[in-house]
Amino acid sequence: MTGADGGTVWWGWGAAEAHIPLPAGVRSLLEQVLGTACRDTPPVGPDALRLPVGRLGDDARAALVGVLGPAWVRDDRASLVRHCRGRSTTDLLRLRAGDAMDAPDAVVLPASHDEVLAVLAVCGRHRLAVVPFGGGTSVVGGLVAVRAGLAGVIALDMARMNRLVSVDAESHIVTVEPGMRGPALEAGLATHGFTLGHLPQSWEYATVGGFAATRSSGQASAGHGRFDSMVLGVRVATPVGTWELGRAPASAAGPDLRELVLGSEGAFGVITQVRLRVRPRPEATYYEGWRLTDFTGAADVLRALAQRDLLPTVVRLSDEVETAAGLPGGGPVGGDPATGDSGTGTGDPATGGGCQLITGYEGRAGWVAARRSEVGELLHAAGAVALGRDIGASWVRDRFRGPYLRDALLDVGMFAETLETAGFWSTLPGLYTGVRDAIVAALAAQDAPGVIMCHISHVYPTGASLYFTVVCPQPGEPVASWVAVKAAATRAVLDAGGTITHHHAVGTDHQPWLAAEIGDIGMAVLRSVKDTLDPAGILNPGILLR
Ligand SMILES: Cc1cc2nc3c(=O)[nH]c(=O)nc-3n(C[C@H](O)[C@H](O)[C@H](O)COP(=O)(O)OP(=O)(O)OC[C@H]3O[C@@H](n4cnc5c(N)ncnc54)[C@H](O)[C@@H]3O)c2cc1C
Repeated sequence: MTGADGGTVWWGWGAAEAHIPLPAGVRSLLEQVLGTACRDTPPVGPDALRLPVGRLGDDARAALVGVLGPAWVRDDRASLVRHCRGRSTTDLLRLRAGDAMDAPDAVVLPASHDEVLAVLAVCGRHRLAVVPFGGGTSVVGGLVAVRAGLAGVIALDMARMNRLVSVDAESHIVTVEPGMRGPALEAGLATHGFTLGHLPQSWEYATVGGFAATRSSGQASAGHGRFDSMVLGVRVATPVGTWELGRAPASAAGPDLRELVLGSEGAFGVITQVRLRVRPRPEATYYEGWRLTDFTGAADVLRALAQRDLLPTVVRLSDEVETAAGLPGGGPVGGDPATGDSGTGTGDPATGGGCQLITGYEGRAGWVAARRSEVGELLHAAGAVALGRDIGASWVRDRFRGPYLRDALLDVGMFAETLETAGFWSTLPGLYTGVRDAIVAALAAQDAPGVIMCHISHVYPTGASLYFTVVCPQPGEPVASWVAVKAAATRAVLDAGGTITHHHAVGTDHQPWLAAEIGDIGMAVLRSVKDTLDPAGILNPGILLR
């Protein structure tokens, strides 16, 4: 189906057929570690979902139909539910409990930049909030517009704008529409001998427009960079007209205004085209695992690799707890629900505890061999033990499975959620312990036994990101409980000098802390950009800026 549901389930991640119950081994391990029995907690039936009373007036609806045609203005229940919030654990828990009260009043699906401009004009006239909707995988409340002062809310689903528009093979540049999802983009590029190499864990469903609007970062960021570093140009539809940016590989024509669009989360305009630098498909790939004794020492090894310009394409270092849990498959919760394999952790006695590191190399065959040998030398010198290619292969196989396992955990009364930050190397140890301690204390204050895991997967010469996963039994008020834990963790992030978000973006969840990171002047700059591009305040109100 085009657009409105994308073939995904309303209560969780991905397609229904990709889900299986929590494997018995994982279930009993959790019960043992957390001291709590699993219990069935299925989502309510779809008929029990509560939606807001539709507020799209007849005139506004007719005007939208006049622009797009009746098939592309939808207010059936299934479409509204599918566009209710994003895919954070709290988003899912609210839906699963029957709360779809943040659903939009209508979902509209434009097919071109000009149609987006026309929709914005209608929404301006009728005072409707516009929420650009890519894959709907936001985990920071980026799809929940504040309705106050507006007549209604529409979700602007970009699914029909999903073409690979052009390929400049000479310059290694492609132009892509925003609704293209990760797999379709890579498949399209492959026919031209190219790859982008942007692989966030949400890759199966997230879109190019979403990647740009959130400044996302993928699993191969060590080698290929963050998404924002791949963007050469953007075309943006705003309520005041079309804004095109990026006409050369580099420029000194004033500040780089592309940066105002990247990370703007739909609050400044709708990204309708993205120009990306691509690279030739790799001749060779090689993934393998290593074991190091402790997380702090292993992080120092990553620092040495980054500062000596020796990074592999992929690095992923799990701390002792994530390794012991056998969950370095990554994301909300790793492992392989399809097989029941709970992951590839070196916590397995066969591989000996410590911290697991995955290294992956993709590129020209000569580069892969040479880089692997240089990295291997440094790792051996640091006392790392080689675990071989099987661990690398199973990580590659399982790397997009985590969100399905999260759904299986939610089905049995467990809670799993993540948070992320980044800091300079000099502050990273304090950031790690500060955030971890804050989560432990916040869980203890709620009498909740929990497992807290962390990994590093985005590494720079100057620092790295930290990605925490928390698994615990669902408390009585799981949403309020997590909000308290997240607030404590975010305060600890700021105290330890980290960023409130390395790649998940601001949305509504991080918005209260944005001023603490960028200052009052920064907030005023963002406000003036918003006022210039969106004077009526219809674009994603409440997201990024209040
Ligand atoms: C299981 C899971 C794993 C994840 N893993 C990663 C990861 O590894 N790395 C990472 O960086 N993130 C990750 N995320 C977060 C999320 O997938 C990213 O933020 C992603 O970039 C969002 O893309 P999307 O197309 O789903 O955007 P959406 O969720 O639809 O939108 C995100 C924000 O961007 C705005 N927006 C969307 N499209 C446009 C557009 N065309 N123009 C203007 N604004 C727009 C929306 O209004 C919203 O504010 C994960 C999320 C989940 C649920």
